[in-house]
Amino acid sequence: MTFIETRGNDGVKPQSVTFSQAILSPSASFGGLYVPKTLPELDFDFLKRHTKSRYKELCAALFEKFDVDIDREDLDAALKRYDLFDDPSDPVPLTKVEDDAFVSELWHGPTRAFKDMALQPFGYILSRLAEKRGEHYLIMAATSGDTGPATLETFKNAANVKVACLYPEGGTSDVQRLQMVTEDAANEKVIGIRGNFDDAQTALKSLLASESFKRRLKESHTELSAANSVNFGRIIFQIIYHIYSYLKLVERGEISLGESVYLVVPSGNFGNALGGYYAKKMGLPVEKILISSNINNILTELITKGEYDLTSKTLVQTTSPAMDILKSSNVERVLFDKFGAERTKSLMDDLNEKGRYVLTPEELEILREDFDAEFSGDEEGKKVIAEYAKKGYIMDPHTATCFKAYEKLRKKSLKSIIYSTAEWTKFSPTVCEALGHRVEHDKEALEWISSNYGVSVPKMIAELFEKPVIHKCVIDKENIEEEILKFI
Ligand SMILES: *Cc1c(COP(=O)(O)O)cnc(C)c1O
Repeated sequence: MTFIETRGNDGVKPQSVTFSQAILSPSASFGGLYVPKTLPELDFDFLKRHTKSRYKELCAALFEKFDVDIDREDLDAALKRYDLFDDPSDPVPLTKVEDDAFVSELWHGPTRAFKDMALQPFGYILSRLAEKRGEHYLIMAATSGDTGPATLETFKNAANVKVACLYPEGGTSDVQRLQMVTEDAANEKVIGIRGNFDDAQTALKSLLASESFKRRLKESHTELSAANSVNFGRIIFQIIYHIYSYLKLVERGEISLGESVYLVVPSGNFGNALGGYYAKKMGLPVEKILISSNINNILTELITKGEYDLTSKTLVQTTSPAMDILKSSNVERVLFDKFGAERTKSLMDDLNEKGRYVLTPEELEILREDFDAEFSGDEEGKKVIAEYAKKGYIMDPHTATCFKAYEKLRKKSLKSIIYSTAEWTKFSPTVCEALGHRVEHDKEALEWISSNYGVSVPKMIAELFEKPVIHKCVIDKENIEEEILKFI
């Protein structure tokens, strides 16, 4: 399998790259992204053969179809990371919440958010590739809460990789901050920035663009890479759980093989939804992918009106912060798939130069063959949390945004798979408030919900409050470069 670029080739970068090249240097010509040149096919026989497959078997079979340049023993070692999940034989449990709705829980990994699904095996693969080539990489991440802990967890003590993680001091939940500052690994540096998430992100971007920074990294034989969802090495792992969840419905007799389903995906950077789109394109019977967002509803506007307009928006902080996003990177891969490199480049140039792009009515119709979208506000989300808690199911605020899309957007009476992207324990003060009890701190919220609703707090969350704080560095953004170079 070779990989090509969403905005075409600039004549300097190679015309096509391998999977491992796309993982190690994920930025393509003109600021574009790497995408597979062709997608393998999931025919009826493949699906039938894997109806009862365990998660890892399905992963291995899919990797074989993609025919990527990763040795089998390295892939097997990467997949062992799923042994860290609550139930290694079933890392993605499916819970029935309505006659026709099933929640696929993507958060049973070590940091209790769905980022683990892809980052865990991806982290192993990236480090292994670096080790085999004798190269050293610095991964930098700016986080509003879930990416940081998951990135630190997957690379802790990894060979040939260092991680520098920036978070806004005071801008994350207690649990999220503790997950980062208690991470004890010599190859990782966690830095609090005085400011908000935008400040942390902007500081990171200017550092990534700085020639002097890159030169000084080179002097210490270190290359920059990225572990965010622009890296295709993460996307490939996000195709698998869509197939797995579908096959589980078949195995349980809820649908027959070949019957279509809706996928409902709480979306931000669109990696999860893109995985579903690729699965559909490869042949998984999916009627439509229903995108849910919070009040930062730029994806809803794109998919319902064909307009992507940053000029009319400012970012609003919500109770589903992992979806507080205006520039959704992976949409570009869908645009490329549907409209080609030339059109994608022109749309992305419009976005960079004018802050907006507009699809033609024909293009919008093509997009809507696969997607529909709806957003819901914080108050609507809290009602959903309270309603399902009464029925015995506790969910987090990101998952809660899905239910409006599920109720409003289905045109056919087919089953729906709703993706749950975080455990309630990561956002417990919001969940607590939705259940009618207001508290200041995560610890109180965790205890209150746990004792009133009979759900347990997993060990890795409970013990955070006892662990020593390792990373005490909090600095102004002007000093980030020096701090990171000192660490390297
Ligand atoms: C990252 C994240 C999302 C958004 O996922 P994308 O793949 O970026 O669209 C949604 N919910 C939670 C809890 C997340 O951590």
